[in-house]
Amino acid sequence: MKTKNEIKFTAFLKRYPEKFLLSGKNSVMDGFEYFETSEYKNKPGAILSRPKAMITNKSVKDIIRIGMTFITILPCMLKNIKKNYTDMNGYLKSVKNGSFNNVSIENNNSYPNKNVWVELKNYAWENHQLIVGFTELPQEYVFSGKASPFRHALVFAQEMKKEPIEKAPELDAGIEVMRVYNSLGIATNDIANWLRKTYNVVCMANHPLGGLVDTVPLAEKAGLGAIGKHGMLITKEFGPRCRISPLFTELKLFEYTGSHEHSWINTFCSKCRHCISSCPTSAIYSESKLSKRYNKIGLKDRYENYDREKCFTSFAATMGCAVCISVCPFSKNPAIYDTMKLKYTNTN
Ligand code: SF4
Ligand code: SF4
Repeated sequence: MKTKNEIKFTAFLKRYPEKFLLSGKNSVMDGFEYFETSEYKNKPGAILSRPKAMITNKSVKDIIRIGMTFITILPCMLKNIKKNYTDMNGYLKSVKNGSFNNVSIENNNSYPNKNVWVELKNYAWENHQLIVGFTELPQEYVFSGKASPFRHALVFAQEMKKEPIEKAPELDAGIEVMRVYNSLGIATNDIANWLRKTYNVVCMANHPLGGLVDTVPLAEKAGLGAIGKHGMLITKEFGPRCRISPLFTELKLFEYTGSHEHSWINTFCSKCRHCISSCPTSAIYSESKLSKRYNKIGLKDRYENYDREKCFTSFAATMGCAVCISVCPFSKNPAIYDTMKLKYTNTN
C-alpha cells in the first residue's frame, strides 16, 4: 500500500544514497504495486479493479461483511502505516541539519545486549504473541524503487487463527488475514516505541502492508522458518498461518538469529505437495523457478514458487485466498514440526 508518506520518505532517503539502503538492480517489485502497473493491467484477464473483484458473485450478506471489515480495520491500518513515517520525522530532520547524535545502547559498548534481547522477546510475546528474529537487511530484499533507512532488521511473525483460515477461500479467512495485518501493524509500532523509550534505540517500524521490503525471504534469513512450496514462510510455532513485519534498526544491536535449522522443510515439501494440488488457480509451480542468482555469501538465490498473476485472480476475489495455507499440514497442526524434523533430519 504506497502512501504519500512513503513517497515523501523514500524521496528523502534517495538524496543520501551513501547513507541509506536504496533498492538495487537485483531488487524485485512489490507484488501489490505490480498489480497496479499498466504492464499487468494490459494483460488479458487482468483484474482492473480489486474492489469489484472482491464483491463480484458475493451474497449481500458477504458484501456487508466486507464493507464492515474495511470500515472497522482500514482507518486503523492507514493510521499505523502513517505512524511508521511520522515517528521518523525527528530522525530525518537531524540528518538534514547534520545534528544527528546517536546515543543508543550499542554506543555504550553493550553489544550483543543479551539481556535486552531476552526482554524484547518477552515483551513481543507477552504483549502481542509475536515471535522474533534479527538479521542483516540485504539490498536485494528492498523492493524496487524503495529504500530503508537502516541495514539491520528485527522480523516479527504473528499467528492467524486456525478456525477462520480453515474456511479458506471463504470470507472468514480473508477477514482473518486483514485482522492480523492490522494487529501486527499496531504491534510493530508499539515495539518500536518501546525500544525507543526504554533503550533509546534508533529504529523504524514497517507495517506488514507497508511494503518496503520482501518480508518472506527476510524472515527466513532471520531464522523464523523456511519458505514452503507455496511460497509462504513455515514457522515452528504457527506453521504458515502467520503474517510478517520488519522493524529496521540503525545498529547491529543483537547477534543475528539466522540458521539452517528449518531447511529440512524443503525435503518434506517435495514429498507432500498438497498445496500444489489444492490451489484453485493452479498457481503453485511443481518445481520452483530460479529467478535471481545473487552470488553473495549468506544470501540464498531467489526462487519463484508460484505464478503471481494466476494467484492474484483468487487472492483479489477472496480478500486473501489462503487455501494453500489452510491445507498445509503445518497449518493444520504446527505441533507436527518436532516429529517431522526428527524424521526428516535423520533420514535425509
Ligand atoms: S493464495 Fe490461493 S491462489 Fe494463491 S497460491 Fe495460495 S492457494 Fe493458490
Ligand atoms: S502443503 Fe505441503 S508442500 Fe505445500 S508448503 Fe505445506 S508442507 Fe510444503
